Order: sequence, then structure tokens, then C-alpha cells
Amino acid sequence: MAKEVIVDAKTVLLCLTDDEGRQGWGEASVAPLMTGETLDSLLASVKYLVEHARAIEWDDPTLFSKACDAILYGNPSAKSCLEMALLDLYTQQHSISLWKYLRSLNAGIDLEELTEIPLLRMIGGTPEKEIEDAKSFREAGFRHWKIKIGSLSLEEDLYRVQLLSDLLEGDVISVDANGAMSLDDALSFCASAQASKLSFAEQLISAGSSLSDFAMLKQRSPIAIGLDESIHGSGEIEEFMGADALNGASLKLIKTGGVMEAWNCAQILRRNNLKLNLACKVAETSLSGAATASIGFAIGNVPWGFSMSNQYLRFDICDQPLIAKHGHLDLVQLNSTGVGITPNIDRVIDAIAQDYSIIQY
Ligand SMILES: [Mg+2]
Repeated sequence: MAKEVIVDAKTVLLCLTDDEGRQGWGEASVAPLMTGETLDSLLASVKYLVEHARAIEWDDPTLFSKACDAILYGNPSAKSCLEMALLDLYTQQHSISLWKYLRSLNAGIDLEELTEIPLLRMIGGTPEKEIEDAKSFREAGFRHWKIKIGSLSLEEDLYRVQLLSDLLEGDVISVDANGAMSLDDALSFCASAQASKLSFAEQLISAGSSLSDFAMLKQRSPIAIGLDESIHGSGEIEEFMGADALNGASLKLIKTGGVMEAWNCAQILRRNNLKLNLACKVAETSLSGAATASIGFAIGNVPWGFSMSNQYLRFDICDQPLIAKHGHLDLVQLNSTGVGITPNIDRVIDAIAQDYSIIQY
């Protein structure tokens, strides 16, 4: 990331069993700076939600998030975890894949068919590693890139960006500062000829900046402006749209409180000709990857790519993890019903963090 090196993934998995013995799985990754939830608060909130969820009939997914909001304020990651498991159960019960279910909610709207989603590859590390990765992953078929910026000086970042832009010319290249830049630096960065080949720049300035700062950045920048940490749902997309402050947004399930609100956001972006980037937090497993990808396959167009973060994991929780094929995620990798990933319990047990254990309730 722009300001930290991440060596392990903190993620919470939830398995629900219904009356007929089906299992539905949910996942939420820990991102305190995006959602305010820590690993321990997430565990406590999931437990609280599940205890109250027992008494509810979960028979209409369009009402799931409202029902979660009636149990607990805020805590979008915990709600996303529960909603994913509920949706997995619901779509299995109805013998439909999650992406097809989402699409069925908009019957009549002409959505494109998509058989593969372009994956976005993150570039970082030493200059040598960045160049080596760019070359080898491009050879493997990747055409969407994200360069993490904001931890070096403006001049050093611009130099890297130019070097990598030349190397990857013609591809969809983006930068992401995770809000680490000042407005002045962000304006200089976007205006620089060295950054001119970028397709978009994500969250250059802090989510705490004023709306007028975001509007000024978008209106003065020759590069499209994407927002990530600033966007947690449709309300914010509409607010930033109203101020002409974004060209597109990055959607993560842990921010939106789940698949249904992310689906809602994706449709708002599409209707308003704004660009969509789908993303998992570093690093979620194939489970979250599949749930997030479902939104892409349902909407039919992911112009800014999909950051599928299980590709950075040393091992995954299922026997057949989602993999990149020629830099894309194929639709055939998702199972025919449910979210599409069935974790292997032995692998899950291997992944349990030190000082934690399976909680049954
Ligand atoms: Mg980002």
C-alpha cells in the first residue's frame, strides 16, 4: 500500500447452515482505515448480527441490508460478511448463480454479456521489481495496472509513473495514492506530462478533504479521477456526482456493506457514464473475489478492471482458487449456483490466525 507493507491478510469467514443442511459462506477483510472496523470488532459485530439474524426470515435479498441496518448501525464489513453468506444460501436454494440473480433483478435493462473480467495488477516494490513484474505479468496477458504512489516524493513518483507508462504503453494504467497527497501535489501530479498516459488516478487526496477540493481536482485534472476511500455507497456517489468531483469509483464489498448495495452503486455508475473499478481489500480469498466478480458479470462492463486480491495470497481456502487466465477472470470459474466458491474446511483451519479459533454459535 502507499504507506504500509502488508505481510498477512486479516479476514473473517462466516459459515451459515440452513434447515436443509446447505452451507452459505461469507467473508470480510479487515480495513480499519476504510470502515473503522478492526479484527476483534468485526468478530464481535458478526456474532451480534448472526445472533439477531436467527429470528428473521431471509427470503428477499433486496431487503437483506435493510434488515441488517435494523439490527446494528454502521459496521459495513460485518454486514457484508453476513449478507454474502445469506446470498450464498439464497442463490443455492434457488439453483442460480449470484451474478445471474443480480442480473435478473434488472430484467428488461439491456446489459452487455461478459465472459471475462480484466484483472488489475498492482505494481510496487523496488524499481527493479516493478519493471520485472510489469514485463512478466504483461507477457502473461495483464493489460490493467495500478501503481501505488504517495509514499515517495512527487518527483520520484512521477519518474516511476513515466517509466512504467512507457513500458506498458496502450494499457489501462492507473495510480492509487490512498489519499496520501496534498491537493497541491495532486494537482501538480495530474498536470505533469510524465503522468499523461495514465487512464485514471485513484484517491489522490484524503477522504477527509472538502468536497470543493475534490471538485477542483477533478475539474483541473487532465486525467480521469477515481475515488475509493471516499465512496462507501450510493449516497456518496450521488453527492460527488452532484459536485462534478469524480469520473469513476472503486467498489469494495466491505465498504458498501455487501453485494446488494455494491450492485446498486454499479448501476448508478453505469447509468451516469461513470467508470467502474471492482476491488477486494488486500488480501481477500477467492470467496470475496467471486462475490465481487459477480457484480462485474452482472453489470456486463468493468472498464477500470477488477483488483482480485487472492492472487497475492500464498494459499487460498478452497481447492480451486480463482486464477487469472491471460490477465482475466473467466466466468466459467464461478460455479453454477451460489456465490461460486466452496471453502475446504481443512484449508480454512490451516488459515486460522494465532490466538484465534473457530467460534460456533
Ligand atoms: Mg484504492
